[in-house]
Amino acid sequence: MLLKDKVVLVTGASQGIGKAAAIGCARHGADVVINYHGDDAGAADAVAQIEALGRRAIAVKGDVAEASTAGVFVRAAVEAFGVVDVFVNNAGICPFHAFLDMPPEILERTLRVNLHGAYYMVQAAANQMVRQGHGGSIIAVSSISALVGGEMQTHYTPTKAGVHSLMQSTAIALGKHGIRCNSVLPGTIETAINREDLADQNKRDYMAGRIPLGRLGEPDDLAGPIVFLASDLARYVTGAALLVDGGAFVNLQ
Ligand code: NAP
Repeated sequence: MLLKDKVVLVTGASQGIGKAAAIGCARHGADVVINYHGDDAGAADAVAQIEALGRRAIAVKGDVAEASTAGVFVRAAVEAFGVVDVFVNNAGICPFHAFLDMPPEILERTLRVNLHGAYYMVQAAANQMVRQGHGGSIIAVSSISALVGGEMQTHYTPTKAGVHSLMQSTAIALGKHGIRCNSVLPGTIETAINREDLADQNKRDYMAGRIPLGRLGEPDDLAGPIVFLASDLARYVTGAALLVDGGAFVNLQ
């Protein structure tokens, strides 16, 4: 019960890592407000799973790429549950595409959702935490891609380096308010974002073989690290980045 009676907000929580993080926080006693974009059934299922744990949850639909979505989301959380204690910026897209003929629309959309969306959301959550006056914890779901490149991800990796950098700068800007800002850097986690890419069994085997812990990640692998950073166990941790990749990053050979 590391988050007993805390109010946790998670963006992009209708499936994948965000959904696992939302449910993981509820398992530790939190009430949860989730944002999502299109998957109504997934969002309803996340709410149902949280309620089944005896906690409260609401889902608020909205496109994080729109600046106005952030204020709507945070206000809905405050109206429903009174405060914002923890904010998890997770929503993101990765439409795999080669570099030389990258369509401007794909580049623009990826930057808008992953980076602008994170900025607006973190800003809105931070303003609410500052108004409340008792600190808080902000966690961004960055990626191992903040540290390494990807041939088909030239539009995506800069956004993940960007949200990690945002956490470093906001850690400084918000430290005086007792608000901690950290990022988690997942390795390859099996979700809808990479389903097509991982459909190739040879590629899966190659990737799993490069991971010291011997398997690809699953969304629930992120829940523990996010709960930890959200909780008072991490009370002196800010501006940090936690790799959650089964050891993939350190395995050069
Ligand atoms: P996912 O299963 O595809 O889930 C993405 C979530 O983000 C969904 O809930 C989706 O909502 C939401 N979303 C997408 N665009 C949105 C928008 N414009 N506004 C609001 N919500 C939006 O992907 P995932 O793998 O869990 O990815 C979650 C985060 O982890 C991303 O930031 C990604 O970069 C990061 N990450 C993933 C991996 C990996 O290997 N899977 C590795 C490193 C980092 P709807 O489905 O309702 O549209």
